[in-house]
Amino acid sequence: MRARYPAAAREPAAEDLGQLVGNGDVQQKALSMVIAGLRIYLGRMRPEDILVPSREGICCKPGGFHIDPTRSVAKALITHGHSDHARAGHGAVLATQETLDIMRLRYGENFAGSTQAVRYGETLVLDGARVTFHPAGHVLGSAQISVECKGFRVVASGDYKNVPDPTCTPFELVPCDVFITEATFGLPVFRHPDPAHEIAKLLRSVALFPDRAHLVGAYGFGKAQRVIALLRAAGYGEPVYLHGAIETITRYYAERGIDLGPLELVRGTDKAKLGGKIIICPPGSMGDLWSRRFPDPVAAFASGWMRVRARARQRGVTLPLVLSDHADWDGLAQTITATGAEEVWVTHGQEDALVHWCKSRGLRARPLDIVGYGVEEEHEAPAEDEA
Ligand SMILES: [Zn+2]
Ligand SMILES: [Zn+2]
Repeated sequence: MRARYPAAAREPAAEDLGQLVGNGDVQQKALSMVIAGLRIYLGRMRPEDILVPSREGICCKPGGFHIDPTRSVAKALITHGHSDHARAGHGAVLATQETLDIMRLRYGENFAGSTQAVRYGETLVLDGARVTFHPAGHVLGSAQISVECKGFRVVASGDYKNVPDPTCTPFELVPCDVFITEATFGLPVFRHPDPAHEIAKLLRSVALFPDRAHLVGAYGFGKAQRVIALLRAAGYGEPVYLHGAIETITRYYAERGIDLGPLELVRGTDKAKLGGKIIICPPGSMGDLWSRRFPDPVAAFASGWMRVRARARQRGVTLPLVLSDHADWDGLAQTITATGAEEVWVTHGQEDALVHWCKSRGLRARPLDIVGYGVEEEHEAPAEDEA
């Protein structure tokens, strides 16, 4: 495969080196042979020489690390804090400061043997690989990880979206040879509407039913905070009420400077008095005991899956809000095209459709079957919904 990103001293001219070490015929000949061998080797550089799927996840042999490993490894580079990507129990963990903080909040102080915070745009040399973290626009602290060896670049994008989100740094396009993409919403039917439009639906309902509590199911890390930030952007100034399970990470977002306005806890308040209020809770809590005693609650759910009406009905959702932290079909296609990658690896989700689309565009593409991705809460497709 052609490498398009020049690395230092790639393909040196035999003549130049010959002059450096002396002009003897024998030396020249020997050197030419070495360089010819090197060129053959470089010419044969394959993506799998840089990153390869393994039992533990995506492995970088030249760099001696794994990306988002699903089992314990010596050195893990983590794209973001969602639990299918960020697990406790690795030796060393390299991630953005926010991802490390979120892992600490979820797993406790001793979630890894050691940690190293990496800034967006900072390049690290890890043995034979150059590694850079770039914003993924998915949740606070989320990163794509670019890995370069010998001028060949593979980008593992983790989860991403290419639409604005007031709670995280925007997605950055990174040109590459191989792009590893998610496909959570990798079917043409998934086209996410404008988030502001969905939030306006919620606010209209609150205005229309001022005596009813509005329970908004939203995953606790990322979605919940984005819903609140979007409400603020739409001019909603009332306190937003939080289920206890969402409190810690929401407070962390506020500490990191995300403007979430006034927040209150449901715990300790009289639920009967929350008519006309917006309450953010984990989706799983909406059908359980906790949801009782709110005045005539309206059940809303913020998820990309709300595009599928049957899912909303199954869950008893009367106010579906199509709001996703993953790229939709157009977002995936646009991003893949814009990276200029000639080869695409597809993870967790609708792999077949996206692989087919890539091939129809003349790209090499393959599904990456990594067990353990996309099965957690944030992928918005809980197992019971698959039945
Ligand atoms: Zn995620
Ligand atoms: Zn994921």
